[in-house]
Amino acid sequence: MAWRRFRKKKELPSGLWIKCPNCEETQFKKELRRNLDVCTECGHHFPLSAPDRVLHLIDQDTFEEYCPDLYTIDRLKFVDREPYSAKIRRSVQKTGRAEAVVYGLATIEGQPCILCVMDFTFIGGSMGSVVGEKVTRAIELATERGLPVIVVSASGGARMHEGALSLMQMGKTCAALQRHDAKGGLFISVLTNPTTGGVMASFAALGDVILAEPGALIGFAGPRVIQETLRQQLPEGFQRSEFLLDHGFLDQLVSRHELRSMLSRILGYLGNYTPDQLTAPDNWQAPEDWDLPDEPESIQEAPTADSQATASEPADPETPESDSEFSLKEIEAT
Ligand SMILES: [Zn+2]
Repeated sequence: MAWRRFRKKKELPSGLWIKCPNCEETQFKKELRRNLDVCTECGHHFPLSAPDRVLHLIDQDTFEEYCPDLYTIDRLKFVDREPYSAKIRRSVQKTGRAEAVVYGLATIEGQPCILCVMDFTFIGGSMGSVVGEKVTRAIELATERGLPVIVVSASGGARMHEGALSLMQMGKTCAALQRHDAKGGLFISVLTNPTTGGVMASFAALGDVILAEPGALIGFAGPRVIQETLRQQLPEGFQRSEFLLDHGFLDQLVSRHELRSMLSRILGYLGNYTPDQLTAPDNWQAPEDWDLPDEPESIQEAPTADSQATASEPADPETPESDSEFSLKEIEAT
């Protein structure tokens, strides 16, 4: 709107207006809130707190929160600019919540599910022991009840103040997802701006269905680090959700206004299962005209209890998975 250009900045009452970082239009905060914190001019998705996200997604009054009081202990007595314990205290006061994630049982358009939502306003949505524990408990609750689990991520990654303890949450959450999957459970991962670091490198990337909000920053390391490592110019839009959709990493981009109905549709298609429905009967055989691939020879049988002790020994610390940002050796060295 042209008239806004002539307004002097000091005429704007503070706290009532907000400037969109994408289109730079100034907007009335109440109007923005009414539009689910999506810019009315360009569709930019502003960050949403966990309670707002929960309220937006669930059927009214159906959210039964679990473990709201699980709180963090500063085991390493870590201090950077301030003690970690002080940082936690400040975040608790600011947000009114004990940690950077909430989870519970809810229904979405009448369909029950476990909903777990991360909160970027609490120490950047970083994953420490409690966040990892709550995400794990959410998945385990879903497995136990035979329900789908939805995790809405917004995170800067693992919480470095907890050192290796925070990195262990990556394995813990993924192991819970593996057990959920083995029971035929559905996991929908929703990535919002930003979903990066250890969260993206663990459970957030493992959805049976992966959805993302438009324009969200999604990746592991930041673009500058990658650019310096590769010594190459990165393509335009790199690590944005549109780019990732084009390259096959995401299943769908969903605007905030459509997220609830999209989740409801997916729950309707995939959420109602019983383990029996997923197992083929013993005498089942594929029809002859089905073009099935041969079983790859490289797949070996799972180790038995006897062989496990010897098999697992050399595997853990030495495994050079990828470029190993998470190897224990490097952590000790830093
Ligand atoms: Zn805008």
